[in-house]
Amino acid sequence: APVSALIDRLVRPIEDWPVPGVTFRDITPLLADPEALRLVVDALVDVARTTGPIDAVLGIEARGFIFAPAIALELNAGFVPIRKAGKLPSTSFTTSYDLEYGSAELEMHRDALQPGDRVLVVDDVLATGGTMLAAADLVQQAGAQVAGNIVLIEIQALGGQEKLHPVGGSALRTY
Ligand code: 5GP
Repeated sequence: APVSALIDRLVRPIEDWPVPGVTFRDITPLLADPEALRLVVDALVDVARTTGPIDAVLGIEARGFIFAPAIALELNAGFVPIRKAGKLPSTSFTTSYDLEYGSAELEMHRDALQPGDRVLVVDDVLATGGTMLAAADLVQQAGAQVAGNIVLIEIQALGGQEKLHPVGGSALRTY
């Protein structure tokens, strides 16, 4: 089955979660299906391979951590975690950003990237784009460069794609 059909079948919309008016795309049924998990990771790797040489794959806490290391292993690149504020043990870059619901801060270790590194940023869902844009800010603070933004699912109506211009985001499934 094409990967978009798998996502349609195995990503479950949860109405009014975590707050009224939001429909949350729950990827846990897809993660629990071994064949679907394999096909989704393979499809993400295929997208990652179109972005040219990559020095590191950055995953955004928490669900970016599920996919970024799997992609990094296939590209022979390292994995770098981007975490919520206060979680990283060493000196970090910090950036604040707006969420679909609320606002928050993201951090990345200062020595995680070298100036000029080309990196991929990985998350599960692109909604308003605030999170991916915050990740790009951390990459910029390190003097590195975002070569691509990769997600499973893009919620097109929330306008994240425009926010990520000119690099843009690549999604396996757009709603
Ligand atoms: P954005 O910053 O683009 O508005 O929201 C994207 C971030 O919020 C991602 O880190 C993503 O994990 C999380 N997120 C927002 N909406 C959803 C959703 O419907 N499903 C899932 N799984 N994550 C979401």
